[in-house]
Amino acid sequence: MSNSSLVSYTKISPNKTSPRNHAIDTITIHCMAGQLSVEQCGNVFAPSSRQASSNYGVGTDGRIALYVDEKDRSWCSSNSANDNRAVTIEVASDSKHPYAVNDKAYNATIQLVADICRRNGIKQLIWSTDKATRVNHLNGANMTVHRDFAAKACPGEYLYNRMGAIASAVNNILSASASSNIYRVRKSANDASSQLGAFTNLDKAKALADKNAGYEVYDTQGNQVYPVNNVAPASVQTISNNYYPKYTGRSGSITAALSAVGEKDTSLSHRRKIAIANSIASYSGTAAQNTKMVNLLKQGKLVRA
Ligand SMILES: [Zn+2]
Repeated sequence: MSNSSLVSYTKISPNKTSPRNHAIDTITIHCMAGQLSVEQCGNVFAPSSRQASSNYGVGTDGRIALYVDEKDRSWCSSNSANDNRAVTIEVASDSKHPYAVNDKAYNATIQLVADICRRNGIKQLIWSTDKATRVNHLNGANMTVHRDFAAKACPGEYLYNRMGAIASAVNNILSASASSNIYRVRKSANDASSQLGAFTNLDKAKALADKNAGYEVYDTQGNQVYPVNNVAPASVQTISNNYYPKYTGRSGSITAALSAVGEKDTSLSHRRKIAIANSIASYSGTAAQNTKMVNLLKQGKLVRA
């Protein structure tokens, strides 16, 4: 069980039970009732006589501290069962109602909670305004508050009223990171049983595909990304009828007319490709074929090769 890499200050408190007896599946956000730094909060939790701690602290400047390792149970929410399953976070706040939290600390808390959820497999954070739903973890609810377990104002009205917004901000971060690309080495996009491996690193996926004939690399959306497929994706194929601009000059020469609309390659071989694109059969540069092409260009109906 790891701790957050967002931590910039560590002062482990003796006030803890090691290890916790339950997997982490809950987040409990508290208010410090003081605009404390992470050092000041660490000092509060340092003496064993205090009999209190939290896993993390977010200071008034937005820095994040670790006081109790995630593998251990903090003494934070006046409830053993809750603290055994929850990661507890003390956030710097005003010392009186509504215990407001500044933007730096608020935003750092969201980043910290998202990191805790991601590392502990909490796919979605679910807040309920109903205490019974929260404490009984009904309907997937996985956020609790100190006032659920003790006659306390904690986490204060400011944070309490924002728990839903915090959950939503965290869930946005979680879904953004979940949608980052995974490169799968398979025989075809939908043939999951053929999968030899899946990588976040495209080069590793390519190397595995190279070693196995008949295998390609597909991204999260199922698009073949390696080897590069000759078939253009549907989004490109729909851009059809790519015409040259309308030729408004008076020349009857196809090379002059093509040059006038910006075509740099007026060679016979390129005009042959243009002819194919416009269903002009067996183009060899005859006057009749060139006139047909010029007329299409004058109508703005000559398809680019
Ligand atoms: Zn509290």
